[in-house]
Amino acid sequence: YVRRRRRRIAQLSQSQVYRLENRPIELRSDDILDGLTGVIGNTPLIRINSLSTALGVEILAKAEFLNPGGSVKDRVAVRMIDDAERQGLIHPHTGSRIFEGTSGSTGISLAMVAHARGYDVTIITPDDMAAEKLHALRSLGADVEQVRPASIVDKKQFVNIAKERALAFSSTSSTSVVSGIGESIAVLTDTDARGFFADQFENKSNYDAHFDGTGPEIWRQTNGTVKAFVSGAGTGGTIAGVGRFLKSMDEDVVICLADCEGSGLYNKVKHGVMFDQREKEGTKRRHQVDTVVEGIGLNRLTQNVELGLPIIDDAVRVTDPEAVAMARYLVKHDGVFIGSSSACNLVACIRLVKKMGWHKGERVVTVLCDSGARHYSKFWNDEYLLKAGIPIDTSIIEEMLST
Ligand code: PMP
Repeated sequence: YVRRRRRRIAQLSQSQVYRLENRPIELRSDDILDGLTGVIGNTPLIRINSLSTALGVEILAKAEFLNPGGSVKDRVAVRMIDDAERQGLIHPHTGSRIFEGTSGSTGISLAMVAHARGYDVTIITPDDMAAEKLHALRSLGADVEQVRPASIVDKKQFVNIAKERALAFSSTSSTSVVSGIGESIAVLTDTDARGFFADQFENKSNYDAHFDGTGPEIWRQTNGTVKAFVSGAGTGGTIAGVGRFLKSMDEDVVICLADCEGSGLYNKVKHGVMFDQREKEGTKRRHQVDTVVEGIGLNRLTQNVELGLPIIDDAVRVTDPEAVAMARYLVKHDGVFIGSSSACNLVACIRLVKKMGWHKGERVVTVLCDSGARHYSKFWNDEYLLKAGIPIDTSIIEEMLST
């Protein structure tokens, strides 16, 4: 094995050598990996050729859709379970159950990782969740409970219900363990079945997955030549974790938030308040983000967003038509099939590069959070978009690039 590795290194270019030598985990194509979770992370960084050529600045995107669960959330799921095990909160094969409230990819990642690690999983979702995500959850053997969408301050909101279910499970299985930041923890014996509330919004393991994983990977893959990092925020884990890692390596790296319509985060970064009366989106629906873009946007501060706020330098607002246009543009020019939050990130990259006036040689890094396959029923459904009054017009991107 060592001979084979040396031979490979000898064949590679200088930058690839740096990458190989500094990689804690070997290239996944060569190795036998220890179960499914070994496949998570170490994703490639793809040069988006169409945008890079048009802008003269390299747009590099982390291909998180290549994770086995199909999204960036695999990293978070495995880290939350690892940390809970390390803290003695749960033990595999004891009948313990992971609970989470999510309308996004986290449930899918958690279901997959939980089963790989010897746990059951219950996911509470709003009942307007995209049908393909629901099918994926059920196919992965998660117990799924659907509830009416509600504000986070409502006890019946899906995240709050997940926490309640974790508590109830713990008490019926004769323990009182529930976790998440700031919760009290009572540790019983190793063999007790426990309920664990994963709590991706408040759980710092989410941030840590990106600070220790995604961030260092980007740094190695670019040999430390990152001008800016652009990302949306759903829980805030990605932008906070990657952003803080990159800043710790080079404080001049620009961290830019890509925010969708209806989210208050843009205002928080630009004006210091989430609900700015000057912007009608911020006041429209205070607790739900109303957009065709899924997975990002927030109208409250979470622990993971708060970790990111001090290092976010700039924010860009992206509209639904812009995100829709970007996804179509990318398929047409690069053959890359992306979901809505990835499209938002790429639009924000263009805006940032144009605004900063950056030129050849600079590198802007972003994330392709999931693939278009998770979005057939809404974002990739022309009929749905038509009914919602959202135009499908790739010239929006052509214009953005040419002006
Ligand atoms: N894109 C998608 C598809 C997501 O599901 C999420 C998480 N909700 C994000 C982006 C945002 O990532 P984060 O939670 O790290 O802010």
